[in-house]
Amino acid sequence: MKTQEIEDIIKNEEIVFKISDIEKILDDESILKKYEDYYPDNLYKTILSSITHEHFKSNEEAKKLFIEIISHYKNLNNILQRDVGLVVASLDYLTNIVNILSEPKIIEEEKSNVLSEMATIDELTELYLRDVFDVVLAKEISESKRSHRKLSLLMIDIDDFKKVNDTYGHQKGDEVLKTIGKFLNNNIREMDMAARYGGEEIVILMPNTTVNQAFKIADKMRENISKLTFDDFSVKVSIGVGQTDDNVNSAMKLIETADKALYKAKNSGKNRVVK
Ligand code: GH3
Ligand code: MG
Ligand code: MG
Repeated sequence: MKTQEIEDIIKNEEIVFKISDIEKILDDESILKKYEDYYPDNLYKTILSSITHEHFKSNEEAKKLFIEIISHYKNLNNILQRDVGLVVASLDYLTNIVNILSEPKIIEEEKSNVLSEMATIDELTELYLRDVFDVVLAKEISESKRSHRKLSLLMIDIDDFKKVNDTYGHQKGDEVLKTIGKFLNNNIREMDMAARYGGEEIVILMPNTTVNQAFKIADKMRENISKLTFDDFSVKVSIGVGQTDDNVNSAMKLIETADKALYKAKNSGKNRVVK
């Protein structure tokens, strides 16, 4: 998939609150409660991102900061005897009191674009990060339902990778991962997307592709990866293939299907593709 396409998908997924909505939360405990229930994992991160256009990693940390900001907001209003506004109070607190923001950005609300500053690429493999994959997968699932087209997913896992680390060292292992990442980036079709799913697990999302087409592509990949050489050794991979259908109709189920197939590939001797 084109970088721009993926960036657009991520941007649209990101929730950004309007400042006026955040101020409503301040006025009414019951609204806050509702928001907390609706966004259990990211309410405070999202509030702070919406105000500052910076990314906050921990929701807990963001909650602590937000509570302090409110208290600072009330203090400022008291001292100045006027409403300084939530944005000013937040930026003042984060810049001048706790020194978290070094260069606060003042951006018009409509132009806010929180995620553009977030990391999207895994440093080692140069593949997309799992968070990005999750967002794109959700979008492609809906797209496949809307268009009645098949969506396939490959789940790739390096065979006996622990042995590579044990025999040649962790650094060599890293090099293997990097090389495979590069190989995949250069060899997937333009419409596909590759991401690092976990340690040495890589997923490839294949829009508008049936399980049989995906299987063929996967088997070629498996074969070509086994031809890459590292000093005096090579590595093999096992691949599970999943496809959407009437039952496999959610991101979770598609991942589960590919995962089960991968498990079968491992249990039936590795270095193979199972669909
Ligand atoms: P299997 O054939 O069943 O997949 O065996 P395996 O040895 O590959 O076992 P498994 O997939 O469970 O283990 C993955 C290993 O990959 C364990 C971990 O140390 C290693 N690993 C995960 N991420 C990295 C990484 O970033 N760099 C290196 N060098 N090793 C990693
Ligand atoms: Mg693994
Ligand atoms: Mg493995």
